[in-house]
Amino acid sequence: MPTHQAVYIADNEAAMVALGEQLGRVFAQYPSALTVHLLGDLGAGKTTLTRGILRAFGHAGAVKSPTYTLVEAYEFAARTVYHFDLYRLGDPEELEYMGIRDYFSANTLCLIEWPARGEGVLPVPDLVVAISVAGDGRSLNLRTDSAALAALLPPT
Ligand code: ADP
Ligand code: MG
Repeated sequence: MPTHQAVYIADNEAAMVALGEQLGRVFAQYPSALTVHLLGDLGAGKTTLTRGILRAFGHAGAVKSPTYTLVEAYEFAARTVYHFDLYRLGDPEELEYMGIRDYFSANTLCLIEWPARGEGVLPVPDLVVAISVAGDGRSLNLRTDSAALAALLPPT
């Protein structure tokens, strides 16, 4: 299966939130459950992008990092969004105790920071967003094996 790639540049925090909003609109209209992995070092902008994604669903407020709770749920009419931060996850098996499978059911959108911490237990992602520092801004590399999802992504 060919992997589809798209690269975006976000020059500052506002551009990052705006790109998150564009992606959020795609996710909101997507007809089935989605798992998105957010890769990048501490401070790359994973949570900032998540704030934009949630804004597209109608969440105008702050987004706190679920560093200790591991996951934060946001319920919308369109779908429930789960925002994971697995940075402090000790063992992927802890996800089993959390009832991880329930989070990936039905029509949910799962945004996962530090997915490598849950390797072997997390499902395969539909989309991988890798964020890296580029000058004062950030570059975002999006990869998906889904032609349908790739076709919906914003123009680069
Ligand atoms: P992470 O969740 O990856 O650890 P955060 O989203 O908490 O990172 O963001 C870390 C910092 O990077 C914040 O101060 C934020 O304002 C800044 N930031 C986010 N996106 C960008 C960007 N595109 N350009 C410059 N700074 C950014
Ligand atoms: Mg974060």
